[in-house]
Amino acid sequence: MYIIFRCDCGRVLYAKEGVATRKCVCGKSIKTKSRRIFKKIETSEEASEAVRQMQEEIHGKTGFTTANNIKYHKRG
Ligand SMILES: [Zn+2]
Repeated sequence: MYIIFRCDCGRVLYAKEGVATRKCVCGKSIKTKSRRIFKKIETSEEASEAVRQMQEEIHGKTGFTTANNIKYHKRG
């Protein structure tokens, strides 16, 4: 099992369940037990996919939007 959690910098990370610390790309070492777990995932592939999806939700999709979103981007 893999766990999905966030660093203080806002990045979404995953780690194998039972791993005590995970280093973020920002340089901070996260104690996994101190973090709120968003999801638990079976495989590393699915975990990295879940991380990617969460990053997109948080930071917005790049180069892709839906008709649904466009109407909220009013000019001016
Ligand atoms: Zn970080």
